[in-house]
Amino acid sequence: MSERAKDRPVVALDGPAGAGKSTVARAVAKALGFLYVDTGALYRGVALAAKEKGVSWEDGEALGALTRALDLDFEATDEGPRLLIDGIDRAPDIRTPDVADGASKVSQHEPVRAALLDVQRQLGAAGAVVFEGRDIGTVVFPDAEVKLFLTATPEARARRRVGDLMERGKDADYGSILEAIRERDARDSSRAVAPLKPAADATTLDTTDLGFDEVVEAVVAAVREAMAR
Ligand code: C5P
Repeated sequence: MSERAKDRPVVALDGPAGAGKSTVARAVAKALGFLYVDTGALYRGVALAAKEKGVSWEDGEALGALTRALDLDFEATDEGPRLLIDGIDRAPDIRTPDVADGASKVSQHEPVRAALLDVQRQLGAAGAVVFEGRDIGTVVFPDAEVKLFLTATPEARARRRVGDLMERGKDADYGSILEAIRERDARDSSRAVAPLKPAADATTLDTTDLGFDEVVEAVVAAVREAMAR
């Protein structure tokens, strides 16, 4: 049993890239008045800082030392949480394909995961948090009151990503996005440390044919049910 108050649960939203976790997590956190923590942003932050400091994305020990020395935090804004690295807003710089690739690479290394485990547990210590990630229900908060695994076919996820990018006025090529999603899935699922997989006690939600509102409603209902237990 966790020591969190019943009305301050930890909500674990895990799943592969593009399953809709971010938009869903943000909407659920807003509906419930909870904090929203995007854990992928932490891995992206490590990849960005490593690149800027000349630390290789393949050097686990050096990356671990770098991660422990970084001050990683989030600032809540109307548009959602923004990643602060050593007090500076780096949110605009972590959403590039290069940093996404780096995040997937640095996340393979145990020293990085161990350092970020502490950061994540501190962010969730008071409860009433929606965590979006890959291993929240399995590793970071195995005692989370609500565990959901969001998934969708790679094609559906690639289509959504294309839609998101085009909405923001950016170029998007379906074929290369689909290929990148497949590559990241394979790497995230096959890594030795904390591979991407649903927790044994997680509920899997396939969002391929579900509308955004339906997914948000299902998650909010699951959280309210847990709070009433
Ligand atoms: O979710 P996002 O695309 O921002 O995550 C970037 C990368 O960080 C993922 O591809 C994954 O390799 C890694 N990650 C992870 N564990 C998490 C969150 C993200 O390994 N909890």
